[in-house]
Amino acid sequence: MELVELRPELHLVRLSFAPVYLWRDGDTLTLIDTGIAAESGEIAAAIELLGLPTAALRTVVLTHCHQDHAGSAGELAAWPGVRVLAHRADAPVLRGEVPGPPPNFTPAEARLHRQVGAHLLPAAPPTRVDRELADGDTIEFGGGAVVVGTPGHTDGSIAVWLPAAGVLFTGDTVSNVGEPRFGVFHLDRPAAMASFRRLTELPVTLGCVGHGAPITEREWVTLREDGLPEA
Ligand SMILES: [Zn+2]
Repeated sequence: MELVELRPELHLVRLSFAPVYLWRDGDTLTLIDTGIAAESGEIAAAIELLGLPTAALRTVVLTHCHQDHAGSAGELAAWPGVRVLAHRADAPVLRGEVPGPPPNFTPAEARLHRQVGAHLLPAAPPTRVDRELADGDTIEFGGGAVVVGTPGHTDGSIAVWLPAAGVLFTGDTVSNVGEPRFGVFHLDRPAAMASFRRLTELPVTLGCVGHGAPITEREWVTLREDGLPEA
């Protein structure tokens, strides 16, 4: 685990496969995504490095149901006082009521999926979902966070926008592996492209992506022009 300060109130926690983000409002923490299964201990260690008790974590927001983002949600849901929030379309998958939809890879993505070892990741154990989100909902952190529905990567993918801070948590609709661009492994590629376009229209000074380093304001502007593949 590595803790990286992005802003005084925002830290990135680098875990084994995908980063998660801790937002601090006074003595209260909000976590965006949870890594793969069995990483709650690493998240606890990150919170302790911030000088806070693990009881400071009150809210866990999941950008989508994939195992590298929701893997430790069930463990964190067992912490006292933690509420888990996710879009209503991914909630049944997260609860383990229905299986996650099968992937829909392009040939290049199928190769990449094996290359990065994504096929070896443990399945996400089921988690409680305490609040089901919809597009336009607000979440009480960071001066008022806005849920932006971004269907396509999964049906219930969301981004979380903090207008006051200019920060956007993109989930896997946007990635920054190699370069800032459209993410990979989408269920519905045309829908994900439309969601991507919607996100690039937001005024963002820091794009906290599902994979890779955060995207700067300068890079964010170029996404609008250069971020999408040709087809
Ligand atoms: Zn994903």
